[in-house]
Amino acid sequence: MMRSSEHSMLDVIVVGGGISGICAAIAAAENGASVIVLDRAYGGGASAISAGVIYAGGGTKQQSRAGYGDDSPENMYQYLRHEVGDAVDDATLRRFCEESAPNMEWLERHGCQFDSNEKAYPFAHLAKPAPRGHKPVGKGSGGMGMTGADLWQALFDSASRLGVKFEPASRVTEILMDSGGRVNGVHYSTLANGPWWAVRSYKWLSKAALNYQATFQPLSSFLDWIAEFIFVRGAHEERLGSPTVVLAAGGFIMNKAMTQEFAPWARKTATLGTVGDDGSGIRLGQSVGGSTSHMDRISAWRLLYPPEGLLEGIIVSQSGGRIAAEDLYGGSFTDIMIERSDGQGFLILDSVQWKKISDSNWTILWYRRIPAEFWIVNGSSTDIRRSSRRRQIRASAKQS
Ligand SMILES: Cc1cc2nc3c(=O)[nH]c(=O)nc-3n(C[C@H](O)[C@H](O)[C@H](O)COP(=O)(O)OP(=O)(O)OC[C@H]3O[C@@H](n4cnc5c(N)ncnc54)[C@H](O)[C@@H]3O)c2cc1C
Repeated sequence: MMRSSEHSMLDVIVVGGGISGICAAIAAAENGASVIVLDRAYGGGASAISAGVIYAGGGTKQQSRAGYGDDSPENMYQYLRHEVGDAVDDATLRRFCEESAPNMEWLERHGCQFDSNEKAYPFAHLAKPAPRGHKPVGKGSGGMGMTGADLWQALFDSASRLGVKFEPASRVTEILMDSGGRVNGVHYSTLANGPWWAVRSYKWLSKAALNYQATFQPLSSFLDWIAEFIFVRGAHEERLGSPTVVLAAGGFIMNKAMTQEFAPWARKTATLGTVGDDGSGIRLGQSVGGSTSHMDRISAWRLLYPPEGLLEGIIVSQSGGRIAAEDLYGGSFTDIMIERSDGQGFLILDSVQWKKISDSNWTILWYRRIPAEFWIVNGSSTDIRRSSRRRQIRASAKQS
């Protein structure tokens, strides 16, 4: 069934209500545009299950308060240009560094609050190390310290105050073009004004699936599967007109075919994302002539610390060679581990290091604590012949 939408022509349609989409909506509304955000679920996306730590620097207020006020955009750039390689072009990277501190102030103006480098070779020689992770203040989703949910909520509230409309349970399936080949709206499936049973159960199931996404993926997938069943039966089709469509609909790590095509190695890692990371946003962009690049650049993480003592060991590949400096940022280390060692490594510690780690007190986000504790308990033997297999290190990946 096709119904005409209740919304009149809007200035901007944003597809996807994670942090990128909500920020785009706020920026457009601040400049006087009428904006609607369409989200296949109830917003939040991967942003709401993340730690929400913002990588920012170049002299932010939080850095000054913590005694690192001498970080500068140039210092940040010198470090990052080596860290990111060819993943970001030079002009974008420079702009990112120059606008980093003002961007943090923009986030604060929209209700976000924050607390408040790399020390490894060769980075410590290229730029002055400065801490740049800005953690949002908040309780974290489900009390688990994942403050991405607090960050998202603050931005969502600010967007609402600016008059941004939000339509949940609305899945964009096509970008519409006029006869001159210009974008002029979207086609989407939605539960808006749909049967009450479908709206209520889809909402409950989507939110529950998001809650379990990072902790218990099989349950989350099962809930998403039922939600999908309900969505297909309850949704109707809509069209909405606008000359501007912003695509902020996540990545493709949950799309097995796309992952196999662009980064087959990532199929061997645990996925980090939500059911919305099905590649639909990327495909929508391509359908109207958009081009893609760096599709193989999936960020995989095998974060070793805390406890910091684990960094005192040596990580070797399957053939026994050392992979890289163990105290590199976890994402960078994992990149090298994937390239040189098929994403696998073995952590070797001596008995003195092992005792120090076992005796140390350390706090850590739950999603890193569980695997770390598993290794520590499971690898209590210091006999490398018996336990090295058990302490094999694998990566998990987030495509963004
Ligand atoms: C466990 C975990 C921890 C992380 N920690 C950090 C961290 O500390 N710092 C950091 O910088 N990054 C972190 N990340 C990565 C970060 O969360 C993501 O890069 C970021 O959230 C992506 O934001 P986004 O708005 O682009 O996508 P999302 O937040 O995923 O939002 C995309 C939205 O689009 C919607 N959508 C999808 N398809 C459609 C469609 N066809 N129509 C309508 N809507 C659609 C989805 O429902 C979703 O709400 C973490 C990720 C995970 C999983």
